[in-house]
Order: sequence, then C-alpha cells, then structure tokens
Amino acid sequence: MIHTVLDILKIREDFPILKRKVNGKPLVYFDNAATSQTPQYVIDVIVDYYSNYNANIHRGVHALSQEATDKYEEARIKVQTHFNAAHSHEIILTSGTTHAINIVANGFSSLLKKGDEILVSAMEHHSNIVPWQMLCERTGAIMKVIPMSLDGELLMDKYHALLSEKTKLVFCNHVSNALGTINPIKEIIDAAHAVGAAVLIDGAQAAPHIIADVQALDADFYTVSAHKICGPTGVGFLYGKEAWLNTLPPYQGGGEMIAEVTFEKTTYAGLPHKFEAGTPNICGGIAMGAGLDYMNSIGFDAIAAYEHELLEYATDKLLQIEGLKIYGTSKNKTAVISFNVGIIHPYDIGTILDKLGIAVRTGHHCAQPIMEFFQIPGTVRASFSFYNTKEEIDVLVEGVKRAKAMLE
Ligand SMILES: *Cc1c(COP(=O)(O)O)cnc(C)c1O
Repeated sequence: MIHTVLDILKIREDFPILKRKVNGKPLVYFDNAATSQTPQYVIDVIVDYYSNYNANIHRGVHALSQEATDKYEEARIKVQTHFNAAHSHEIILTSGTTHAINIVANGFSSLLKKGDEILVSAMEHHSNIVPWQMLCERTGAIMKVIPMSLDGELLMDKYHALLSEKTKLVFCNHVSNALGTINPIKEIIDAAHAVGAAVLIDGAQAAPHIIADVQALDADFYTVSAHKICGPTGVGFLYGKEAWLNTLPPYQGGGEMIAEVTFEKTTYAGLPHKFEAGTPNICGGIAMGAGLDYMNSIGFDAIAAYEHELLEYATDKLLQIEGLKIYGTSKNKTAVISFNVGIIHPYDIGTILDKLGIAVRTGHHCAQPIMEFFQIPGTVRASFSFYNTKEEIDVLVEGVKRAKAMLE
C-alpha cells in the first residue's frame, strides 16, 4: 500500500464504499468533515480482530488477551509517534473528541474558582463550547469569546487584549469544521502561556490534513477523533502533558482505572489508565492506529497538496454560479467549502444533491454561533478528501446549478 505519487484512481480502489450507487447515481462523497470513509486496509484490521484475537485487555493471562493488549498498546504508540508526544502514557484513548474535551472540562472543576476566565474562539464546534459552559456553571468561572472577521479568521489583536492573569484556560480548534479556517494555534498557545493559562486544541478537523507536533506546538491538550482519519467511529484520543494529566482528577470511575479498591478508599492507577475506566473500544483503538498507518502510507504532504488543488478548483467553479456565497474565506484553510445560493434554504439544495448521489452536509454543522454571526440558518458544506476527484467536483457544480434552477 505504498503510493509514491498520488494515483487517485488507485487510491479510490482502496475504498469499497466509493463504488456504491446512491439513488441510481455513482456516490459523490463530500461529507468528509463529518466522517471520512474507511479503506479496505482498516476494514481488514477490524475483521482480523474479531476473527482472530477478540478478548478483553490488560486483565487476562491467556494468549488472546495478551495479543489484544499488545495491539492496543501498539496503537497508542502509533498515535504518540504520529503526533510526537513525549510519552505514550500522555495519550488517553477515548470515545472521540467530545469525550476527550469532557475529561478536561470535568477535571478543571476543582481547579477554577469564581471570577476566573476562560476564552473560547468564535468558531468552535458545540463539543468545544458546551462542556466549558457546564464547567462555568459549576465553578462560577466566566467564558469570553475571541471574535472573528467576516473572512472567518480570529481577530488576534482582540485575543491578545482579552488575555490577562485572570485567564486560566483557552480552547480553540486547530481547523474549523464549518469554515475550514486553519487557526494560528502556535501564537494562541504562546500568548496563553505568557499569562499562565492552559490551552486545549481541538484537533478533530486538522488531523485529516495536518500533522500536529504537540511538543513543538507546546499544546497542553490536543484532541482527535479516529473517524475523521480513516478509522472507525466511537474512538479517539486526548493528548495531555504528563503534568496536567497527573493534576486532573479522573473523569469516570470503574474497572481498569484503579490501583487498589476497598469500600473505604480507592487509589487510582497511573497514566494512562487513570482516565480509561471500563472496557474500551479495543478494536476501534487498534483500527485508529491502522487508519494512521494508511494515511501515512499516502503521505500527509501529498494529501495536503492535492486537497488544496481540489479546494482551489472547486472554489473557482462554484463562484461562477450567480448568487453563490462562500462562508469562510481565510487564505489559510483546508478543503472545506461552506456556501449558500441566494436565499435558497441549504436543506433544499442538499436534498436535491442527494437525489443526484452527492453527499454534502447542510445545517449549522454543530456550530450555531457561527451561523448566528453570519445571520444565516445554515450552509451547504462540501468537504473534500484525498480520494475525491475534480470530476466529482464538476458533478457537484452541475448539481448546484440544477438545484438553483429548480428552487429559484
Ligand atoms: C467532528 C468534530 C468534533 C466532534 O467529534 P466527535 O467524534 O463527534 O466527538 C469536534 N470538533 C471538531 C472541530 C470536529 O470537526
């Protein structure tokens, strides 16, 4: 599975689902920002797990349990290596980004007090807003918003002005799932550290396109979901600096996260097990590692370059449609295009595109504050991956034209 140059037709052969028809038309899958498709390589790893070594981990003395444990721990090391964490125990395997953020938000309950401030960017996914609002309710801390421009770029001077010794936490996505903006997270992290605040970066939307080096970034926390990087749903990870993970209390109690339990008192296990109560998604964790292997075999530089080509091609073609407006026009963005056509409701366009076999997302993309900012009910979002083609973009453009003719 080594690709020296990006041979897209060959890559497409790796994804069985791309051969599907939808409503009698070849599937055009442009909902990659919601979930990526799964290559046969990863499907085989899942089948192999359930066919050959399905067992609970870290507990049994028997062979299957040992094999499953070894593979699961190998996956943790694959994640550690890919994101350049200093230690494998800084990688907490979770059910995804949402779970990872909740671990941190819950942990800070005992560290914040009334009047402390936490900063959130204006372009967050709900999963990076709601857990912090709940934290504010519990602690009396105050949440302030880093505003953005009409291009969908954070106003960094406003950010610097918001920071003070009251700021305890800053959280921001690396890439916005609704706008595609790549945020200047190194600057965000350095400025937060200068006032003593911790930073959580939601990397769910960046991971399919950019390799984040958590040590070079000096991120305190970084979160990812496997299902956006060619892995399965319901698994992901929280990276946290060792010192922070040792400071935060555990999120859930249960099996696997303890050192010793009596009815009087429980002592917790060390990292990473302290945050991994209960039987995890073992197969999912192993398959997440396989998804990373698959993407690395293609190469992230090649992926980023090709996706950028798709972005420019599609932006150019779509803007030729009269009345079409793109939301998120930062110079620095991933291959996500959020748009509306005149005052046509995005849902209506999405429905017609679906009839043509084209899968796009419509609505608020779990980022209602962004829609409120632009004063729109939602957008149509086409998000591209390395297995998409320019021919598919042509099909989308024709589809949007057809929808416009029918709905106007
Ligand atoms: C997908 C996504 C999430 C949520 O991921 P889950 O897998 O649903 O937990 C959070 N933030 C961003 C930026 C995303 O793109």
